[in-house]
Amino acid sequence: AAGGQAELLDDLNPAQREAVTHAGGPLLVVAGAGSGKTRVLTRRIAYLLGQRRVHPGEIMAITFTNKAAAEMRERVAALVGRRANAMWVSTFHSMCVRILRREAKTLDMSSSFSIYDSDDTKRLITLVARDLDIDPKRYAARTLAVHISNLKNELTDPETAAANAGNDLERRVAEVYAEYQRRLNQANAFDFDDLIMRTVSLLQAFPDVAEYYRRRFRHVLVDEYQDTNHAQYTLVRELAGTAPNEAGVEPAELVVVGDADQSIYAFRGATIRNIEEFERDFPNAHTILLEQNYRSTQTILSAANAVIERNPNRRAKRLWTDSGDGEKIVGYVSDNDHDEAAFVAGEIDSLAEKGEADYSDVAVFYRTNNQSRVFEEIFIRLGLPYKVVGGVRFYERREVRDMIAYLRVLANPEDTVSLRRVLNVPKRGIGDRAEAVVATHAERERISFAQALRDATEDKIPLLNPRSVKAIKGFVALLDELGLLVEQGAEVHDVLEAVLEKTGYRIELEESEDPQDHTRVENLDELVTVAREFTEITAEVAADENAELVVEPGVPAPGSLPAFLERVSLVADADSVPSPDGGEEGDGGAGVVTLMTVHTAKGLEYPVVFCTGWEDGVFPHMRALGDPTELAEERRLAYVAITRARKRLYVSRAITRSAWGQPSMNPASRFLDELPPDLVDWRRLEPSSPGFGFGGGSRGTPRAATTWGGRRTSSPSSSGTPSFGKGWKDTVALKLDVGDRVSHDKYGLGTVISCDGVGPRATATIDFGAAGKVRLMLIGSVPMVKL
Ligand code: ATP
Ligand code: MG
Repeated sequence: AAGGQAELLDDLNPAQREAVTHAGGPLLVVAGAGSGKTRVLTRRIAYLLGQRRVHPGEIMAITFTNKAAAEMRERVAALVGRRANAMWVSTFHSMCVRILRREAKTLDMSSSFSIYDSDDTKRLITLVARDLDIDPKRYAARTLAVHISNLKNELTDPETAAANAGNDLERRVAEVYAEYQRRLNQANAFDFDDLIMRTVSLLQAFPDVAEYYRRRFRHVLVDEYQDTNHAQYTLVRELAGTAPNEAGVEPAELVVVGDADQSIYAFRGATIRNIEEFERDFPNAHTILLEQNYRSTQTILSAANAVIERNPNRRAKRLWTDSGDGEKIVGYVSDNDHDEAAFVAGEIDSLAEKGEADYSDVAVFYRTNNQSRVFEEIFIRLGLPYKVVGGVRFYERREVRDMIAYLRVLANPEDTVSLRRVLNVPKRGIGDRAEAVVATHAERERISFAQALRDATEDKIPLLNPRSVKAIKGFVALLDELGLLVEQGAEVHDVLEAVLEKTGYRIELEESEDPQDHTRVENLDELVTVAREFTEITAEVAADENAELVVEPGVPAPGSLPAFLERVSLVADADSVPSPDGGEEGDGGAGVVTLMTVHTAKGLEYPVVFCTGWEDGVFPHMRALGDPTELAEERRLAYVAITRARKRLYVSRAITRSAWGQPSMNPASRFLDELPPDLVDWRRLEPSSPGFGFGGGSRGTPRAATTWGGRRTSSPSSSGTPSFGKGWKDTVALKLDVGDRVSHDKYGLGTVISCDGVGPRATATIDFGAAGKVRLMLIGSVPMVKL
């Protein structure tokens, strides 16, 4: 039963309480990190159910990840019990899939549609571009895909895109977009961006559909609002409504919470504009600010404020906490990325030894996924339990994708991309030429590829040679046999096993000499396990007679093949973050250290956080160094990173880094300089060998505060001229050309073999003979002279 009102509101501050109990018009909660925005949403739901007697089915809550959705549902269930099941708590994408499955007919689609991810999308765009005779060297499929995605995020349809096209690229994009869209329809598929865009157009074009959802969802709540893009914003507006509709149904109560300083998905089209649009479209909106932070120590908060304060055009807000100063931030400068990882591992070990933190209390952040490798190496060597979130994902592996493609074809025979993917996998004698002939036949007859294959088996495609026809007959018979299994209601893992056996896919890998193929077999076994667990869990839920399973038209039956495929399609990096209780993988309760990118860490919190790789060119990313807009986004990312920490924060950088194959030297991140010096306890500031890297000659000499973090700015420093040996004192970027000879403090004599980038992004690759080829950034102070 719901707790009393007192229980629900007791441990909230007045501003939070106001947000939880607010009734009527739209509410915008804008507040800094850790101020309880997510807590307010959860509490509000409990309050609606418990105090305002709202039916769970009237609530729609949108979170940024599936994991966050599951957690929110759990938290609400803890407060109000099983009634929580009837709510819709999901990501934008899952919510749209649910609506689209229900309403597919209205859009002339079948509810068994496939969901194409970025890889499928690229495949289809490649096919389309080829058919339109577009030069792949001039316009890569990737580029076209990015442009089409941007158009969709702005809700621009192909006709409008064509009308607005102002240059050759835009015209080509519009052309591909139109054809791509036609083929998606034909394949009974939506891509990720479509899920949002088509739902919006559904609600806009069909008032009765919109009315159904308007009547149903009387409460709409959105977390991480700052990261919604234009399409998602419009979707929220269409769902909730801004005024009574024709039938007189009032707009839903809308509550969105966010923090403009944590907007880190501009590259996916998220825009701060949404906060402004909200205030414009909902002129009666009420705004609540939350200023008390309950997550971090004052030290951590001050550091976060000092960094984000430098961003231009932001609404200043100051977060405070009454949890005390806590520990100082620990800073560490290492010679290279391996030493940095060793430092992190050593520190985690000693915290664990002293009983100050469990492994599951610790998170290690880096800017890009490729930085995880060095940590993994050393963690494995030391036996530190860890989990890397993200990176090359399980579902992106070739063999896993092949199997998923088979399953998709079985669920949705019109899925051309998947069908063509497995047409000749494993090899069964249906070559490229035969595929092309079938595709042309399909185009000409305006039938699906699957139908064209059937025509082939009935000898209706004269251009095919008898051998191909025979192979196609075998393939179609195989699919029919497997399809029968699905129809008879076989469990997903049994279907999967049948596919592996009957296609000969498994045996081929097992008999291969290539050791990689053995790993592939393991991955496939893993996939079967995933499918089995999926069936078992849904069976458990169904068997629990008290569980209120909400069966809705169009929603795939629990445990069914479409339900499984949907889960697989919508899984995101952040969904595999280990739970903080450490109960995972049965390792004695101490849990595992979590390694992930800062992007993935959004919304999470950890007692101990390591921010690694704080170097200009790494974090902030190279791409951002000469671009104020991108730099502002990187700074927000730094703000997100710092504010994940509850008690202890570490910041570190490496002087040389080899993550991209060639070692490169990077100056300290400007964000390190922005940390107030008195908050940081630098464990190590100096490289180990004299003459190595920056400030080589000054080992043992105390540094002035302005150079803490090791980064020198290009303005002449009043704290003494840094010494670089060899009398080189210039601090502006070195200008180099191919062929120039240089002398470097550490690497010795070298010849420039290539130059890249301009201004602050300038780099040179230099051949130092025996010391190898090294790519160096030329910004700031390079311990190198031109000869
Ligand atoms: P972010 O911006 O990172 O998403 P947030 O604003 O959503 O953060 P929450 O995650 O909701 O913040 O809260 C941060 C932490 O503070 C959580 O551990 C939460 O339980 C705790 N917290 C929030 N409000 C209170 C409160 N009034 N009393 C005690 N603890 C609180
Ligand atoms: Mg939050």
